Formats: sequence, structure tokens, C-alpha cells
Amino acid sequence: MLIVPDTKNWTWVIERPCPECGYDATDHPDATIATAIRTNAATWPAVLARPDTRVRPNDATWSPLEYTAHVRDVLRIYRDRVRLMVETDDPVYENWDQDAAAVADSYNEQDPALVAAELADAASALAGAFDALSAAEWQRVGRRSDGANFTISSLSKYLLHDVEHHRWDVAG
Ligand SMILES: [Zn+2]
Repeated sequence: MLIVPDTKNWTWVIERPCPECGYDATDHPDATIATAIRTNAATWPAVLARPDTRVRPNDATWSPLEYTAHVRDVLRIYRDRVRLMVETDDPVYENWDQDAAAVADSYNEQDPALVAAELADAASALAGAFDALSAAEWQRVGRRSDGANFTISSLSKYLLHDVEHHRWDVAG
């Protein structure tokens, strides 16, 4: 296991296009976030159907299945964060070590069909949560333990870049 933990902050993706994957989430309207998440989610079953879905391209890169399982968990965690921000004032999110989760939950040994179903459910739940927000709720706030501040609006852009970046990760 030589996967290097990603300790980069990444919050700049709210401010400018990503120089790696090229995705520009900066001026994504709140009202179209849910559709963008559903569109992204629809692309993952093909990744899971690849014959090489469990194969790591090299020792430092997750397999397509591992990326997909990670995206599923990202969608679940952001659903929880949105709920927390709606229901409580200025919450601090629980830490989530994504690399530890990949190992602890044995992402690469999970059933691709199950991961596909779980990702679809997670995307549907999160998109539904975004659809249900009022204009005022989009501006509710929360914080990461490292001090990064978000509104639900900025968090949704951060999340959208994340899942689009992982599409780019597995595109090659
Ligand atoms: Zn990117």
C-alpha cells in the first residue's frame, strides 16, 4: 500500500478552475448542482464494468473500483454534512480520513454491482437534499476541523469538483 495520503487543502477549487482536471465549478448555479451530481453519478457504472476495475495503474493510484467506492462515500458524507448544516448552526464536520477508509473498508474487494447500486442511492439522496433547499438554506454555514469555512453553496461546488476530478482520474 503506497497510496500517498492527499493532504492538500483543495478549497481553491471554489475560487478557480482546477488546473489538473480542468473542471470549473466556480460559478455553477446552486439550482443546477443536483442535476450535475446525477449526471456524474450516471457515468460510474461503466467504470465498474471495466475488466480492469480492480487493477491499480501503479502503486500510487487507486483502481477504478476504489475510486468509485470513494465517490460513493464522498456522496454519503456530503449528504450528512448538508443535513448537519441545515439542522445546526455553524457545525464543525467530523474528520474523515479517506485513505484510511479505503483500506479499512477494503474498497478493492467490494462487489462492483453493489458499489454501483450504493453510489446511485447516495447520489440520489444528496441530489434530493440539494433540490429541497430554500435560497436561505443554501447560505447556511459549516466548518472543517482544519478551519476551512463553507456555505452549503460553496460546499456543493467543492463536492462537485471532487466527483468530476475523480471522473478525470479514471478516464485514462
Ligand atoms: Zn480537478
